[in-house]
Amino acid sequence: MDEKEYNQDVDTSGHGEDKDKKKEEDRYEKVCYMCRRPESKAGPMISMPGGMNLCHDCMQKAFDSVTKGGMDFSKLPNMPYMNMNLNDLNMTPPAVEIPKKQKIKKKAKEQPVLTMKDIPAPHVIKAKLDEYVIGQEKAKKVMAVAVYNHYKRAFLDQPSKDGAGEDGGTDAGIIIEKSNILMIGPTGSGKTYLVKTLARLLDVPLAIADATSLTEAGYIGDDIESVVSKLLAAADNDVERAQKGIIFIDEIDKVAKKKQTNTRDVSGESVQQELLKLLEGSTVEVPVGSNQKNAMTPMATVNTDNILFICGGAFPDLEEIIKERLMKKTTMGFGSILKDTYDKDPDILGQVTNEDLRTFGMIPEFLGRLPVTVTLQGLTEDMMVRILKEPKNAITKQYERLLEMDEVRLIFEDEALRWIAGEAIKRGTGARALRAILEEFMLDIMYEIPKDPNIGSVVVTRPYLEKNGGPLIQMRG
Ligand code: ADP
Repeated sequence: MDEKEYNQDVDTSGHGEDKDKKKEEDRYEKVCYMCRRPESKAGPMISMPGGMNLCHDCMQKAFDSVTKGGMDFSKLPNMPYMNMNLNDLNMTPPAVEIPKKQKIKKKAKEQPVLTMKDIPAPHVIKAKLDEYVIGQEKAKKVMAVAVYNHYKRAFLDQPSKDGAGEDGGTDAGIIIEKSNILMIGPTGSGKTYLVKTLARLLDVPLAIADATSLTEAGYIGDDIESVVSKLLAAADNDVERAQKGIIFIDEIDKVAKKKQTNTRDVSGESVQQELLKLLEGSTVEVPVGSNQKNAMTPMATVNTDNILFICGGAFPDLEEIIKERLMKKTTMGFGSILKDTYDKDPDILGQVTNEDLRTFGMIPEFLGRLPVTVTLQGLTEDMMVRILKEPKNAITKQYERLLEMDEVRLIFEDEALRWIAGEAIKRGTGARALRAILEEFMLDIMYEIPKDPNIGSVVVTRPYLEKNGGPLIQMRG
């Protein structure tokens, strides 16, 4: 922030008597001198002499640092009032109520150290994923193997990257490379869900970031390293655990290289460029307990070498690129027949190559750091019906459980589920639509049923959903 802009935010003149100026000041929200958060975000400010305001958090941090004797004033070269002796100005600091000392918790609870024994074999990972994720068989298998190999590598005492000790390495100089994953599949086909389920069953911290919010350092948006900050927070600030975690960067297709650019591409190609180092493994300094770097935030050093990066995206139009390439290879004349076959192939994405992704706008170096490609299929009506009723935490099971607590049995007719699946397909947002549609119809049931303690069971029928009738209700007894 330049000097001019800065002075607009905070009045540092120190002459509070000037009435007009005071009125002017009142029109603006107070902004914390340290973290730059306004009063509406950071809560009431503590006013200091010289027109300086501090939020309670920063005040607390300042006190903590001073009492621990660890405050490094050299990091505050541009903060004029930090080194000021109030006695020199003949001013006594106002009596401020300091919030009770809250210690920054380093670790919420002591988590056991992750070892290779905690990582199940691929077939076990796949079986666990089957309990939650419907279909996507190939994707689950590829992910299970990739994740297993990733952790094998992470727990291996690898020879160092610069070659030192390569020959003397534990495994005759064989360096296992990182197997970050690129996940391609339509919206709502289960990409995020797959990653979340995986992290939960492996019990490793997970951070989910959106590539569209990332920009090249120095531009408005989150800088690339903020994804590591998020992971550290997910690991309760335990650096060791964070270093074995998973970072999922969604919407990666949105940072494809722009076709024609006259302007600087700060959120596209340059984001891919900046991600390279993180994906490959590097050491980054990130703020602890905040996603903003400032002088008062303690920093932690995180090595991303053993962090598994999964980049996911819907890659619209990629299917067309694949088809075009496949068509080019075929001999003249059979084009239209083949196009028909490709159009009907539900797993055309499965044939994707790096060349197709490059045509889409991903840069080769970036693709080089995502050696495992996983493709997910668009969900069919049958898969949607299964998603409604089969997973361990299926939505219908959740409603059944809720009504069971009122001692009412809830039954969904198969035909009703099929109707919901059909509607969800029409909306084009994958399985995400299922919950919204079901919730719409369940509202009345969840509202009315507990009114009458004599109701023993409710059947959700297709005519009820089609608004041609009500649910079937049976009384007890
Ligand atoms: P996206 O592919 O866009 O990341 P999500 O993973 O967020 O989609 O899917 C949205 C929701 O739909 C998930 O929270 C999950 O409940 C459900 N869902 C999607 N695909 C599946 C699937 N294959 N099996 C079970 N549930 C699924």
